[in-house]
Amino acid sequence: MADALADLRYDLALANRMLADKGVLDAFGHVSARHPSDPQRYFLSRSRAPELVEPEDFIEYTLDSTPVQATDIPQYSERVIHGEIYKARPDVMAVCHHHSPAFMPLVITGIDYVPVFHLGAVGGVHPPFWDQRAEFGDTNLLVVKPEEGASLAKRLGQHWMVLMNRHGVTAVGTGVREVVFRCVFSHLNAQYQIAAAAAGAVGPLSAGEAKLAFNLATGTTGLSRSWELWTRHLDKAGSLPKPRG
Ligand code: MN
Repeated sequence: MADALADLRYDLALANRMLADKGVLDAFGHVSARHPSDPQRYFLSRSRAPELVEPEDFIEYTLDSTPVQATDIPQYSERVIHGEIYKARPDVMAVCHHHSPAFMPLVITGIDYVPVFHLGAVGGVHPPFWDQRAEFGDTNLLVVKPEEGASLAKRLGQHWMVLMNRHGVTAVGTGVREVVFRCVFSHLNAQYQIAAAAAGAVGPLSAGEAKLAFNLATGTTGLSRSWELWTRHLDKAGSLPKPRG
C-alpha cells in the first residue's frame, strides 16, 4: 500500500505539472485523486500553483473536505468541488477544476461545448452548464461552501464535464491519466471550436460519432501514449517532480 500511495502522489504531481504545461491550469485550478483503497478519502495539493506541485504537497482529505490530519498549511478554498463530487459519484477517481483560457469564451457566452474533432469527444455528450448565481445569488464566484459544491456535483450528474458560467470547468475521470487526457483534449477542442466559429459554420461530430469517439478516452493505448509524451515534455523542460525516494 505504501508503494501504491507513493505512486499515486507521484502521478498526481505529474498530472498537476502536465496540465500547467499544456495551458489548462495556471496559478489557479487543481487536480485531485480519490484514495486508491479508501473511497472516503481523497488527495489534493496544498494551496500551490500546479506547475510547482511535488508529491509531498498532497493533503489527505475526508469527503467533507476536511484534512485527515489537522494542519496550518494554506489549502485551496475550492476543495469542496472535489469532495462533493467524490461523494456523489462513486465511479469518479479523479477531478480537475480549471479556468482554461480556451473554455472562457464558452462559459462567458453560455455557448454549448460541441466536439469538433474526434478527440474533442472526450468531453462527453452535451456537457451541462452550472450557474452559481441561479441558486446562490451574488457570490465572489468561488465554490467554497459544501452546498455550492453539492449543487455543482448534482448538475454534473452522470456527465464527465460541467461548464461553470463566468468561471471555468470541472472535469472528472475514472483515473488520473484519464482526467488529464480529458482536460487537455477538451481544451484543444474548445480552441478549435471557437476558431472554427470565427472562420465559418461549425460542423460538429454527429451524436453517433461522438459516442464512438468518446471511447478513445478509455481502454485504448492513447492514454499511455499521451502520458509518456507529456512526461517527456516535462523532462525536456526540466519540470519533472522530485524523484521518488
Ligand atoms: Mn475556480
